[in-house]
Amino acid sequence: MSRVPGAGGVVFDTEGRVLLIRDRNGFWVFPKGHLDPGETPEEAALREVREETGIEARILAPLGTTHYRNDRGEEREIRWYLMRGQGEVRLEAGLTGGGFFEAEEALEKLDFPEDKRLLEVALAHPALRG
Ligand code: ATP
Repeated sequence: MSRVPGAGGVVFDTEGRVLLIRDRNGFWVFPKGHLDPGETPEEAALREVREETGIEARILAPLGTTHYRNDRGEEREIRWYLMRGQGEVRLEAGLTGGGFFEAEEALEKLDFPEDKRLLEVALAHPALRG
């Protein structure tokens, strides 16, 4: 079964809050999306963060991959990056919410267990303290 690749960011601001979006189906997730032709996963992750949230970010470290089947029955494989970013959140049309949240609140909001695990990994990452 072929998996549809994507890339995204677990983005922290300078105060240690993390960027979440509420997607078209009402699920709280991290910003991410499909890879454009010729794009690296790193480029796609930064572009998707910028397009979905208006936040300009930089990559601190790779975080790993999540897999799931989406609501259209597609198998997705998403490469994640730990990022630092700031600015005013401007949500892309179609999203139903979003912003920077304290880690504890973000862990409660996130709707999928692999995303909660991803946030735990990000919070423990040495690059975040650098
Ligand atoms: P893009 O990759 O460009 O954001 P998309 O908006 O179709 O495309 P998908 O992640 O393929 O994004 O589909 C979104 C839907 O997939 C969510 O609304 C939800 O129904 C489901 N989904 C997202 N993440 C998970 C997950 N970790 N586990 C299970 N289902 C998920």
